[in-house]
Amino acid sequence: MSLLQLCPSLRETTNEQFREFHDFTVSCGQPLATVLITNRQTCRKCKKDLTVLENKVHVVVVYHSERGTYLGSRVTKHCKKCKIYEHYGFWTEQGKKHLDSTCLENTYLLSSEDTAFHTSLIRQCSNLLVVGAVAFSTFATSYNRRFGYVKQSGTTELNDSVHSKPAKRMKR
Ligand SMILES: [Zn+2]
Repeated sequence: MSLLQLCPSLRETTNEQFREFHDFTVSCGQPLATVLITNRQTCRKCKKDLTVLENKVHVVVVYHSERGTYLGSRVTKHCKKCKIYEHYGFWTEQGKKHLDSTCLENTYLLSSEDTAFHTSLIRQCSNLLVVGAVAFSTFATSYNRRFGYVKQSGTTELNDSVHSKPAKRMKR
Protein backbone atom coordinates (compact mmCIF):
# COMPACT_ATOMS: atom_id res chain seq x y z
CA MET A 1 0.00 0.00 0.00
CA SER A 2 1.37 3.37 -0.91
CA LEU A 3 1.08 6.59 1.04
CA LEU A 4 -0.99 8.03 -1.80
CA GLN A 5 -3.63 5.34 -1.32
CA LEU A 6 -3.82 6.13 2.39
CA CYS A 7 -3.93 9.83 1.78
CA PRO A 8 -5.07 10.65 -1.78
CA SER A 9 -5.02 14.36 -1.08
CA LEU A 10 -1.21 14.23 -1.10
CA ARG A 11 -1.32 13.78 -4.85
CA GLU A 12 -3.61 16.76 -5.17
CA THR A 13 -1.34 18.85 -3.01
CA THR A 14 1.59 18.09 -5.31
CA ASN A 15 -0.46 19.14 -8.33
CA GLU A 16 -1.62 22.27 -6.53
CA GLN A 17 1.94 23.13 -5.52
CA PHE A 18 3.04 22.60 -9.10
CA ARG A 19 0.29 24.89 -10.36
CA GLU A 20 1.09 27.54 -7.78
CA PHE A 21 4.77 27.45 -8.63
CA HIS A 22 3.96 27.48 -12.34
CA ASP A 23 1.68 30.51 -12.02
CA PHE A 24 4.22 32.29 -9.80
CA THR A 25 7.09 31.85 -12.29
CA VAL A 26 4.81 32.87 -15.20
CA SER A 27 3.86 36.03 -13.31
CA CYS A 28 7.60 36.72 -12.83
CA GLY A 29 8.05 36.58 -16.60
CA GLN A 30 9.98 33.30 -16.90
CA PRO A 31 8.07 30.02 -16.68
CA LEU A 32 10.28 27.66 -14.67
CA ALA A 33 7.92 24.85 -13.62
CA THR A 34 9.64 22.67 -16.22
CA VAL A 35 13.10 23.59 -17.49
CA LEU A 36 14.38 21.57 -20.42
CA ILE A 37 18.18 21.56 -20.47
CA THR A 38 20.70 18.90 -21.46
CA ASN A 39 22.56 17.03 -18.70
CA ARG A 40 25.67 17.13 -20.86
CA GLN A 41 28.45 19.13 -19.22
CA THR A 42 31.19 18.93 -21.85
CA CYS A 43 31.44 19.35 -25.61
CA ARG A 44 30.88 16.14 -27.59
CA LYS A 45 33.80 17.09 -29.87
CA CYS A 46 36.53 18.85 -27.89
CA LYS A 47 35.42 17.80 -24.37
CA LYS A 48 35.66 21.36 -23.08
CA ASP A 49 33.04 22.62 -20.62
CA LEU A 50 29.82 23.86 -22.20
CA THR A 51 28.49 27.27 -21.28
CA VAL A 52 24.85 28.06 -20.60
CA LEU A 53 23.51 30.70 -22.98
CA GLU A 54 21.47 32.89 -20.67
CA ASN A 55 20.11 34.93 -23.56
CA LYS A 56 18.84 31.71 -25.14
CA VAL A 57 16.10 30.81 -22.69
CA HIS A 58 12.89 30.22 -24.61
CA VAL A 59 9.35 29.69 -23.44
CA VAL A 60 7.82 26.38 -24.53
CA VAL A 61 4.27 25.05 -24.35
CA VAL A 62 4.36 21.70 -22.53
CA TYR A 63 1.70 19.03 -23.18
CA HIS A 64 1.71 16.78 -20.13
CA SER A 65 -0.25 13.55 -19.68
CA GLU A 66 -1.15 14.33 -16.05
CA ARG A 67 -0.93 18.10 -15.76
CA GLY A 68 -2.45 19.25 -19.00
CA THR A 69 -0.92 22.13 -20.91
CA TYR A 70 1.31 24.70 -19.26
CA LEU A 71 4.33 26.89 -19.90
CA GLY A 72 7.96 25.88 -19.33
CA SER A 73 11.36 26.95 -20.60
CA ARG A 74 14.15 25.47 -22.62
CA VAL A 75 17.78 26.41 -22.15
CA THR A 76 20.65 26.06 -24.61
CA LYS A 77 24.26 25.14 -23.83
CA HIS A 78 27.06 25.98 -26.21
CA CYS A 79 30.66 25.19 -27.14
CA LYS A 80 32.14 28.42 -28.41
CA LYS A 81 35.06 26.73 -30.13
CA CYS A 82 33.12 24.04 -32.05
CA LYS A 83 29.95 26.17 -32.45
CA ILE A 84 27.84 23.29 -31.20
CA TYR A 85 24.53 24.11 -29.53
CA GLU A 86 23.25 21.50 -27.09
CA HIS A 87 19.50 21.38 -26.47
CA TYR A 88 17.31 19.01 -24.51
CA GLY A 89 17.35 15.79 -26.59
CA PHE A 90 19.19 17.16 -29.62
CA TRP A 91 22.06 19.36 -30.74
CA THR A 92 22.72 21.64 -33.68
CA GLU A 93 25.91 22.14 -35.62
CA GLN A 94 26.18 24.41 -38.68
CA GLY A 95 22.43 24.79 -38.69
CA LYS A 96 21.85 21.03 -38.80
CA LYS A 97 19.75 19.32 -36.16
CA HIS A 98 20.89 15.98 -34.70
CA LEU A 99 18.74 13.93 -32.34
CA ASP A 100 20.31 12.29 -29.31
CA SER A 101 19.94 8.51 -29.64
CA THR A 102 18.40 8.48 -26.16
CA CYS A 103 15.93 11.33 -26.73
CA LEU A 104 12.87 9.08 -26.36
CA GLU A 105 14.11 7.99 -22.93
CA ASN A 106 13.81 11.59 -21.73
CA THR A 107 10.72 12.71 -19.84
CA TYR A 108 9.92 15.26 -22.56
CA LEU A 109 10.42 15.51 -26.29
CA LEU A 110 10.96 18.93 -27.85
CA SER A 111 8.95 18.61 -31.03
CA SER A 112 9.43 22.17 -32.23
CA GLU A 113 11.08 25.39 -31.10
CA ASP A 114 8.21 26.15 -28.77
CA THR A 115 6.50 22.82 -28.13
CA ALA A 116 7.37 19.95 -25.80
CA PHE A 117 5.46 16.71 -25.32
CA HIS A 118 5.55 14.57 -22.20
CA THR A 119 6.86 11.27 -23.63
CA SER A 120 4.26 9.37 -21.61
CA LEU A 121 1.56 11.29 -23.53
CA ILE A 122 3.21 10.40 -26.84
CA ARG A 123 3.24 6.72 -25.82
CA GLN A 124 -0.42 6.80 -24.82
CA CYS A 125 -1.35 8.47 -28.08
CA SER A 126 0.82 6.34 -30.37
CA ASN A 127 -0.41 3.11 -28.79
CA LEU A 128 -4.02 4.12 -29.29
CA LEU A 129 -3.28 5.13 -32.89
CA VAL A 130 -1.38 1.93 -33.66
CA VAL A 131 -4.12 -0.35 -32.42
CA GLY A 132 -6.62 1.81 -34.28
CA ALA A 133 -8.58 2.65 -31.14
CA VAL A 134 -8.96 6.35 -31.92
CA ALA A 135 -8.05 8.96 -34.50
CA PHE A 136 -5.62 11.67 -33.35
CA SER A 137 -8.40 14.27 -33.43
CA THR A 138 -10.43 12.12 -31.00
CA PHE A 139 -7.41 11.74 -28.71
CA ALA A 140 -6.84 15.51 -28.82
CA THR A 141 -10.51 16.18 -28.08
CA SER A 142 -10.36 13.80 -25.12
CA TYR A 143 -7.20 15.52 -23.79
CA ASN A 144 -8.75 18.97 -24.19
CA ARG A 145 -11.96 17.84 -22.51
CA ARG A 146 -10.11 16.19 -19.62
CA PHE A 147 -8.18 19.34 -18.81
CA GLY A 148 -11.09 21.68 -19.47
CA TYR A 149 -9.82 23.32 -22.65
CA VAL A 150 -13.20 23.98 -24.14
CA LYS A 151 -13.55 25.69 -27.48
CA GLN A 152 -15.98 28.59 -27.25
CA SER A 153 -16.89 30.37 -30.47
CA GLY A 154 -13.40 30.24 -31.91
CA THR A 155 -11.53 31.21 -28.75
CA THR A 156 -9.76 29.05 -26.21
CA GLU A 157 -10.89 29.30 -22.64
CA LEU A 158 -10.59 27.27 -19.51
CA ASN A 159 -13.77 26.33 -17.74
CA ASP A 160 -12.17 26.69 -14.32
CA SER A 161 -9.37 28.65 -12.74
CA VAL A 162 -6.68 26.01 -13.25
CA HIS A 163 -4.38 28.57 -14.84
CA SER A 164 -4.32 32.30 -14.56
CA LYS A 165 -3.39 32.48 -18.23
CA PRO A 166 -5.25 30.71 -21.01
CA ALA A 167 -3.50 27.49 -21.95
CA LYS A 168 -3.24 26.23 -25.48
CA ARG A 169 -5.35 23.39 -26.67
CA MET A 170 -3.57 20.43 -28.12
CA LYS A 171 -2.95 20.98 -31.81
CA ARG A 172 -4.78 18.75 -34.20
ZN1 LIG B 1 33.83 21.86 -28.50
